Amino acid sequence: MDMADARAKLIQQLTHEVRDQKVLEVMGRVPRELFVPASSHHLAYENIPLPIEMGQTISQPLIVGIMTEALELKENEKVLEVGTGSGYQAAILAELARWIVTVERHKKLAEGAKAVLALLGIKNVEIHLAEETLGWRKEAPYDAIMVTAGAPNVPQQLLDQLNVGGRLVVPVGSPFEQDLIKVVKRKSGLVSTNMGPCRFVPLIGEGGWQKE
Ligand code: SAH
Repeated sequence: MDMADARAKLIQQLTHEVRDQKVLEVMGRVPRELFVPASSHHLAYENIPLPIEMGQTISQPLIVGIMTEALELKENEKVLEVGTGSGYQAAILAELARWIVTVERHKKLAEGAKAVLALLGIKNVEIHLAEETLGWRKEAPYDAIMVTAGAPNVPQQLLDQLNVGGRLVVPVGSPFEQDLIKVVKRKSGLVSTNMGPCRFVPLIGEGGWQKE
């Protein structure tokens, strides 16, 4: 089976849990194999997370679909992603919103992601090396924020960087397992929903866990 067929088959599996056609269509176009190490190319379209460099992971496609759908993106919106990793999630977001700011604490991963996004001709993603403070305040507020690493609580620092009407999706729990929490920032206050269990590598630093 070639990569395109394998990708189509994976997207077909995701339709049971991801309903947003636009999200499925974009995931059906972005070549996940380019974001995983060469040794895992043959696994790129299995519905599983895969190891990337620096002991980190590229998320399972199903969770990418669920989290992307939860952001309810509109074409003209500005999005923050915390945890660039391979850059795969950022590439998906890039097709669904106007501007993506993504931050990563490992320089090697940030550089790798930059290279793959450039190769794909994606121009509306800005990748930054994470600083001491969580997120990227310089360009706040954002219409949507996605955290792709597990935090002990919903980080106040990120709620501060969210627009009114904005959506934040973040895994919250222990360093080993979390619940996916969605927070909508309404004029009248914050509305949170628990979208169910998930498993991410830990968010490190401010608003997260202590450095290794
Ligand atoms: N979204 C990624 C998967 C990310 S794995 C993808 O599509 O491949 C989580 C990433 O978050 C790791 O690369 C880790 O280094 C990074 N990370 C952890 N804490 C961070 C922080 N405080 N700021 C930015 N990145 C962080």
